Amino acid sequence: MSDQPLPPGATIGIVGGGQLGRMSAIAAARLGFRTHILTDDPDGPAAQVAGGATVGGYDDPDALRRFAGLVDVVTFEFENISADGLALLATLRPVRPAGDILRISQDRLAEKRFLAESDVPLAPWHAVEDRAALDAAAAALSYPFVLKTTRLGYDGKGQRVIHRPDELDPAWDGLAPHPLVAEALIPFACELSVMVARGLDGTVRTFDATENRHRHHILDLSLAPAPVPAEVCAEAEALAVRIAERIGLVGLLGVEMFLDADGRLLVNEIAPRPHNSGHWTMDACLVGQFEMHVRAVAGLPLPPPGRHSDAVMKNLVGPDEMALWPAILAEPGLVAHLYGKREARPGRKMGHVNRLFPRGGLPGAFGIEAALGPLARREPPDA
Ligand code: ADP
Ligand code: MG
Repeated sequence: MSDQPLPPGATIGIVGGGQLGRMSAIAAARLGFRTHILTDDPDGPAAQVAGGATVGGYDDPDALRRFAGLVDVVTFEFENISADGLALLATLRPVRPAGDILRISQDRLAEKRFLAESDVPLAPWHAVEDRAALDAAAAALSYPFVLKTTRLGYDGKGQRVIHRPDELDPAWDGLAPHPLVAEALIPFACELSVMVARGLDGTVRTFDATENRHRHHILDLSLAPAPVPAEVCAEAEALAVRIAERIGLVGLLGVEMFLDADGRLLVNEIAPRPHNSGHWTMDACLVGQFEMHVRAVAGLPLPPPGRHSDAVMKNLVGPDEMALWPAILAEPGLVAHLYGKREARPGRKMGHVNRLFPRGGLPGAFGIEAALGPLARREPPDA
């Protein structure tokens, strides 16, 4: 029964109430599905557009049971649900992607181990279970290196670059919870990502590799297709396919990578859900990442994305960029998306805009800035 495609009118349950859930719910509605959100915020971005919401904790068995009782299949826009919560959901409804995949992606150490076993190239890394292991990692990696928590990091939170031995104690005390992961600091040429979807029937689809540029550790711009050699894009997509197949994905997964100075790809992390770096697909493809996600979760066929344009996606972060919203709305050619968040706090992702170009027409740096109109940058991005 669970391998049958969900019929129109069925309900997709989404764990998590943020913008990824909101855009998934909108895509689901367009395909004739209902959505129901499990969230701690009854007026959050996803609950505003879904058919209903169960308000409760992600680890509260009663809330999880009530939620599951109202939906036909469960998916996520958010990875940090407990192992017990996942196990409970799996006894009640099909969970896509499966809980094992979330258990890997929500723990950087499990993720590194899985990727290493899958022959996926990674930056040199060491598990740091105790203080002595941190000294050993520092000696092996040499300075500077990056120290990260294994759980609950996002937008660069829960990690530090360590430059000198006297920073080891404060970093060990300041980063929590333990254990930690130490990684070589990669002087990357650029950051890339690939969104990959895999259906119930094993069909795999990738979206074109995307270049991602961050500001203050938050994604600022995505460029698609990534302006790197075609062989690099092909290799990035092949790595994403390998990961999707090895992990037994049913759903959508984002793979973040570094392209190092020697042209080698190193995988940074994976996220088994729609991803900010895939937002350009909403307007530049016939089937964008959110529809692909919904199709995979609902057991529908996965067509090729059908990218018809090149694209630049710019995030709208915090009060300063939100202040430009009226000018963005007035700017011809910017496709604007807003998430319905009540308050524009600094560093908060409020929405994004997509600017399309004819295929093959992605401009260089100055052209991209010019094309962003009111969002054109006056200072350079992070190095
Ligand atoms: P998050 O969960 O916050 O996205 P990431 O591991 O992706 O955590 O790190 C956030 C950003 O920090 C990356 O996109 C990259 O810009 C930078 N970064 C992380 N790890 C490294 C590394 N080993 N070398 C160089 N830059 C890194
Ligand atoms: Mg990341």
